[in-house]
Amino acid sequence: MCPEPLRIALISEHASPLATVGSVDAGGQNIYVANVARCLAGAGHQVDVFTRRDDPQLPSTVDVRSGLRVLHIDAGPAAFVPKEELLPHMPSFTGSARRLVQHSARYDVVHANFFMSGLVGMRLKELFGLPLVMTFHALGLVRREHQKAADAFPPARIAIEKRIVRRADRVIAECPQDEADLVRLYGAHPRAISTVPCGVDLTEFSPGSKAAARRALGLSDDEFVVLQLGRLVPRKGIDNVIRSMALLPPEMRVRLLVVGGESRDPDDRKTPEIARLRGVADECGVTDRVTFTGQRRRDELANYYAAADVFVTTPWYEPFGITPLEAMACGTPVVGSAVGGIQHSVADGVTGYLVPPKDPQALAERLVHLHANPALAQALGRAGIRRVRSLFTWERVARELAEVYAAVAPKNVEPARAARVLSLVRRSALPAGQAQVHA
Ligand code: UDP
Repeated sequence: MCPEPLRIALISEHASPLATVGSVDAGGQNIYVANVARCLAGAGHQVDVFTRRDDPQLPSTVDVRSGLRVLHIDAGPAAFVPKEELLPHMPSFTGSARRLVQHSARYDVVHANFFMSGLVGMRLKELFGLPLVMTFHALGLVRREHQKAADAFPPARIAIEKRIVRRADRVIAECPQDEADLVRLYGAHPRAISTVPCGVDLTEFSPGSKAAARRALGLSDDEFVVLQLGRLVPRKGIDNVIRSMALLPPEMRVRLLVVGGESRDPDDRKTPEIARLRGVADECGVTDRVTFTGQRRRDELANYYAAADVFVTTPWYEPFGITPLEAMACGTPVVGSAVGGIQHSVADGVTGYLVPPKDPQALAERLVHLHANPALAQALGRAGIRRVRSLFTWERVARELAEVYAAVAPKNVEPARAARVLSLVRRSALPAGQAQVHA
């Protein structure tokens, strides 16, 4: 438990907590920032999220709930810019953030998310002496190892990340693999790292009736439903899942649902990855087993997880991976590749199975096994519910982060300001999710 309410500047340059999630550049980081901010504010802290204005209609400040504001920062065009092209706009982001910090009451801590926000955080640390906590969400050197020439981030990313690792007061690793990568590739000192995982919102994701969910989604009762849900980018290895469909017995009635993409309808032009994956399905002769749904809203996802017999995710690498937690919270067993955070969230043989990435045969064997043993699949699902409830709630994540902030923040958070923050919390009238906006 954090002894003092803190004023936290949460910087997330491209991933706004208010964005619609599911497209190429809006995924886990948006969910992380939104939920960490929500739970910190719920625990009595004051949180300002600094994020780039990517739409001219966005007001400068959005009051999301008591203790939580989103501040839209002008940096580059007020339009979508791919994150790979954002670095040149960061000096302008830093300038605006600096003015905001200068004119507001002092923050106690800056928590930067992703390397470009880390750049801003380092400058705020230099100028105002603010302690810097850093979550990378993804590491450039790991990405380069796997993506090679397809990695379109500027080469400067790596030097920036190394500088942040040296200067941050604390680096948050999201899982043991992330911690090992920070030490091995960036020379981070293990004592400067705290491992705090991602979480899941148990009010958003909870077990539901499979039959009702299938009815709601128009799915048949007698198919074995395999769910793949997330951003549609090559590194998520969705082609691997499609290839595994071709290795299942021809008599097995199976449907692979692929949820995600740039638009609600599975539009090949708007989401070129769908066109590529359709090609893979065609080449493997499994077109009739695969359904692309398009992107889905948060409030629709629990039905997809509940309708599925198994959730599958086989990326090449994964800094954490929130979707396995969402599936487990809904009582759905997970088959995931034994990489990154998935090795940590999925207990092999207990809540699902771990398989090597890029190995459709290993995946197909696990799917056949679960299909043949529905009682086992249900038991794995129930164990998943227990696991996320005890280890992976956002409330717990926020509590652990607050402990890190308290450890690095100056010890003299004045009692007067603490009292002011508490009175703000008591005056809290807005239910979560009802935002007030100031232009
Ligand atoms: N997501 C969503 N709608 C979609 C597809 C994905 O809301 O149509 C969400 C998904 O539920 C999860 C996030 O996007 O919360 C993806 O996070 P994850 O950590 O699994 O992957 P990342 O985006 O970080 O690569």
